[in-house]
Amino acid sequence: MSLHPITETSDSSSQSEKLYTPREVAHELSLSVESLRLYEREGLLVPYKLDSGHRRYTQSDIEWIVCIQRQIHENKLNFAGIRYILSMLPCHEMKPCCLEDQKTCPAGVASCRPCWDFDVTPCRIKGENCRTCVVYQQVLNVDNLKKILSVKFKCD
Ligand code: SF4
Repeated sequence: MSLHPITETSDSSSQSEKLYTPREVAHELSLSVESLRLYEREGLLVPYKLDSGHRRYTQSDIEWIVCIQRQIHENKLNFAGIRYILSMLPCHEMKPCCLEDQKTCPAGVASCRPCWDFDVTPCRIKGENCRTCVVYQQVLNVDNLKKILSVKFKCD
């Protein structure tokens, strides 16, 4: 990838991850900035946010965005279909959540959306950040995501 990243870095555990602006990502992937916002609104993407509120993307985000595009254009999945696949991530086990939280969490087994697409979940009430959560981080590791879901996500 020929992107020239800006010098900002994330404050996540990866510390020195380079961050790209929406415009840079859009240009590199030949999509619109609005498409990035749409993926976010549709619950497929949780970008890194600076204190200013501006969005930034890591290399892992870019790889996930490429995967999203392939699901849409090659595998003919719509947003609901991708959300449904992501809803199969066993978030309660991955966190792991206590039984009480499991009982009250709307992102339970009957959900057709990934947990981070809900405005109110027990962990979010506690102030946890989906972007840095172990569950969402699995999405950014596309190979690992395929293994977890045992679904053929054709991202190669
Ligand atoms: S913090 Fe967010 S991503 Fe993590 S389990 Fe809770 S809702 Fe899901």
